[in-house]
Amino acid sequence: MPYRHVALIGLGLISSSIALSLRRKDKGIKITGTSRSAKTRKKAAKLGICEVKANSVEAVKGADLVILCVPVGAMASAVMEFASQLDPGVTVTDVGSVKVEVIANVKPLLPDWVDFVPGHPLAGTENSGPESGFDSLFDNRWCLLTPLKDTSSNAVNRLSLFWQSLGAEVDQMDAEHHDLVLAVTSHVPHLIAYTMVGVADDLASITKSEVINYSAAGFRDFTRIAASDPTMWRDVFLNNKEASLEILGRFTEELTALQRAVRRGDGEFMFDYFTRTREVRRGILEAGQDTDKPNFGREIK
Ligand code: NAP
Repeated sequence: MPYRHVALIGLGLISSSIALSLRRKDKGIKITGTSRSAKTRKKAAKLGICEVKANSVEAVKGADLVILCVPVGAMASAVMEFASQLDPGVTVTDVGSVKVEVIANVKPLLPDWVDFVPGHPLAGTENSGPESGFDSLFDNRWCLLTPLKDTSSNAVNRLSLFWQSLGAEVDQMDAEHHDLVLAVTSHVPHLIAYTMVGVADDLASITKSEVINYSAAGFRDFTRIAASDPTMWRDVFLNNKEASLEILGRFTEELTALQRAVRRGDGEFMFDYFTRTREVRRGILEAGQDTDKPNFGREIK
């Protein structure tokens, strides 16, 4: 483990999973953390996630790694509270789902004696809060680091080792590219899920109980994604506007093409299209990034 003391700013799904995963690897590591509300701090303390402190100044005291685990739009104000208290040589990273805006907002607030290495673990669920964390969340998942031009390679290597020790695979890319890739693989799919569930909710001729009782697998999968935290996802779209709009434009073009095929009864177009998309799913399974079990391996009661 390349750090002795890890401080978690925010105590939700991602940070509690980091703490549990760290403990699995290294029982002796010091982990401190804090959260905005007394309610979450109390919950995290009761669960034994880490040494819970009353505020972030207390949480970062003596830490050699500080991880920002709050919604993207709250990163800057969180950093402002403790930035001047950081010891020389400390690494500050984040787990935010958007990188360009986080870097633009956070970097100017940090003293030049700390290393800032932005990051994003591509792992999560639709649940939030410290009670939703689990120690295997990062196993075999990717963690993307988006170092800046002046980030020390030593700090990047240490943080890579950290994520690898939590079971993740690590890759590096620049922040703009990260935001475009994530718009395709995560952000716009969430927006589409929110829309589809909204459409079903709006249809007066289909009652809510029918939507709930007869939801076939396709719709049910959308509802799982659309149950994701509203604050987190609002912040994603406020902070990854350009890339999201770019991908939404492409999505609309493809949807129009499929709409035309449905209207014209163009079965050949649809068959070829669906065959191509099925291959994408096969690629994900072959890369070990999902399970081929029914319902994604989830138990349906
Ligand atoms: P979460 O479970 O909802 O926890 C959020 C944490 O941030 C809580 O400690 C909460 O404090 C705090 N918080 C919320 N709003 C705040 C504000 N305005 N100011 C200060 N603190 C605030 O969230 P999460 O899922 O762990 O997500 C945390 C970060 O990880 C986000 O940046 C997200 O983009 C990123 N991420 C999430 C996923 C995912 O699937 N969930 C995956 C990868 C990365 P209180 O509870 O005390 O209010």
